[in-house]
Amino acid sequence: MPPALHGWPAEGSRQAGLLARLDIHEPEDLIVHLPLRYEDETRLTPIAQTRPGETAQIEGEVISCEITQPRRQLRARVRDDSGGEMIARWINFYASLQKQLAPGRRLRLFGEVRDGFFGIEMVHPRLRPVEKNEALPQTLTPVYPTTAGLGQAALRRLIGLALENLPLDDPLPAAIRRRLDLPGFAEAIRLLHRPPPEIDARALETRAHPAWRRIKFDELLVQQLSLRRAYNARRLHQAVRLAPQGTLTRALLEHLPFTLTAAQRRVTEEIAVDLAAPHPMQRLLQGDVGSGKTIVAACAMLQAAENGWQAALMAPTEILAEQHHRKLGAWLAPLGIDIAWLAGNRKKRARAAELERLRSGECLLAVGTHALIEDPVDLPRLALAVIDEQHRFGVRQRLALREKGASGARPHMLMMSATPIPRTLAMTHYADLDISLLDESPPGRTPVRTRLASTARRGEIIARLKTACLAGRQAYWVCPLIEESEALQLKTALETRETLETALPELRIGLIHGRLKSEEKAAVMAAFAAGELHILVATTVIEVGVDVPRASLMIIEHAERFGLAQLHQLRGRIGRGAARSTCILIYGQPLSEAARARLKVIYEQNDGFAIAREDLRIRGPGEFIGARQSGLPLLRYADLDTDAEMIETARELAEELLATAPQAADKLLARWLGGREALLRA
Ligand code: ADP
Ligand code: MG
Repeated sequence: MPPALHGWPAEGSRQAGLLARLDIHEPEDLIVHLPLRYEDETRLTPIAQTRPGETAQIEGEVISCEITQPRRQLRARVRDDSGGEMIARWINFYASLQKQLAPGRRLRLFGEVRDGFFGIEMVHPRLRPVEKNEALPQTLTPVYPTTAGLGQAALRRLIGLALENLPLDDPLPAAIRRRLDLPGFAEAIRLLHRPPPEIDARALETRAHPAWRRIKFDELLVQQLSLRRAYNARRLHQAVRLAPQGTLTRALLEHLPFTLTAAQRRVTEEIAVDLAAPHPMQRLLQGDVGSGKTIVAACAMLQAAENGWQAALMAPTEILAEQHHRKLGAWLAPLGIDIAWLAGNRKKRARAAELERLRSGECLLAVGTHALIEDPVDLPRLALAVIDEQHRFGVRQRLALREKGASGARPHMLMMSATPIPRTLAMTHYADLDISLLDESPPGRTPVRTRLASTARRGEIIARLKTACLAGRQAYWVCPLIEESEALQLKTALETRETLETALPELRIGLIHGRLKSEEKAAVMAAFAAGELHILVATTVIEVGVDVPRASLMIIEHAERFGLAQLHQLRGRIGRGAARSTCILIYGQPLSEAARARLKVIYEQNDGFAIAREDLRIRGPGEFIGARQSGLPLLRYADLDTDAEMIETARELAEELLATAPQAADKLLARWLGGREALLRA
């Protein structure tokens, strides 16, 4: 039971609702709701000594107060004990304010001093009626993050109550605190809520103060604790042991037109070891676009098959699923292995037949979209689930695939991500997974050249495209992203094809977009892959996974509208063959600051990990991880950039606490996550 607090709002009350918006659900959550900044109300400045531009607190008596017309304002003149005078002015106000400002009232005003028309003034100062000689606060005044309808005063009062009445015991043993050179919890938390006026303001502001370090460390530690505990809990489940037999995997590698890179061999080995264990693998395979993750997945799937168990590969789009099916099919056909294919728009009969082959266990491998996790799909011998482009799926969808497995055992999970995840983020938000890194691209690739061009040069680009295509090259033309409307996006795509067809009658031009039927998409992709089309006009449906090594040109219109990861993914569609590839980013003007920054990064960088680091810096972790966020508490105080060195320590300590002091771990988790931790258990 979390401790109760006298003064805590009743369940269902308006205030409880407002607090919930701040993620404050229990009294204890108030304790770690920390100030954004502080105001110094511990001092009074004589009016005569205030300077325009400075924030100050003054105290004086109202000598006059009036509502002016025609521009309705409330204007009060205040005189302090040293005889200085100042105007306090309100442009928006309730009538009741005038009563508080009745002549003779004594007030403290806090705000920015300005040089106004009537002399020095404060506009909309914070106001506090006081008695003569009323004591000043002893500590800085915290300003908390809050939400409309919940004022600072109310929040301060509640937090004050929590600090006075709830236990602030320190779960970290003193020896550990000393070792890490961290202050005690109560000491740190009191200081941050109510700093003494002589504190190093800069250290407080930059959050480098030891008190902040303690709080940020606890936050990182709690994140490690909860993710590692989820990891350990999942290891307690049973999984089918898939010992490497080598029969199928070896045959596959012998038939391949290429040999695995050293990185692919290493990662394949890591996965093979996991699959042979009696508990489920929980591994994230990270590799830049084009690093060759598919073949690694294929090896893992064959390891299941050679043991007589099923494996399923789920991809986020039909185009990608279809391509995987085609590619794996080509690789596995020589081994006499057949793959079931499940996508949303398949014909009923074909679909029923596939389902039956999977249900009977006749077919061991399945590839599909989220159609794989729909109800009628039965994979009685599922022992391995592979999720490609995992960031495109929500937590629930990933778990749903797991549930398809044989009862009593959980399938091994291999998640693949083409959006490289910076190390700090991997160590924090993905601490519940084992990570394999494909940090080498297959040989023979030449890096893509990137060019920037404004819309004004579109005509010139079309002319160059013609020359290139007539010389045998193939190109993608990516239509602008129109987030507000899929219909509008489609319209633009149709128009683009028309314009290009008119301008380039001698070229064969195809069009692909999300509204096409599966078979139509497959046909267009196949025609492009076979070299029958010069240009493929496309919406962002081609963003992930599409692999046509012969295509060596890409034009992206209104590139400024795309995110960094998206641009990198799109650009990753070319530069897959031996030919020198070029990506032209056409941008519209005016460019926003952020768009300019993104284009600069994508122009200068080819390495997905470097781009991801920039992206994380520009957008922050919440935006960066997107779908995975559901259910995961984000870091509120610790910063992956500035606090990177603490992460490793937090991780080690988390393991130590889980093993040696589980009650301390419980206490930390309860304090920071309260009831929210349950969401992580999956
Ligand atoms: P991604 O990691 O982006 O999913 P893919 O698995 O689609 O990359 O692989 C990209 C391309 O590289 C494919 O055409 C694939 O067949 C090819 N490929 C993969 N591994 C190698 C290798 N070791 N040598 C040469 N080509 C490879
Ligand atoms: Mg891929």
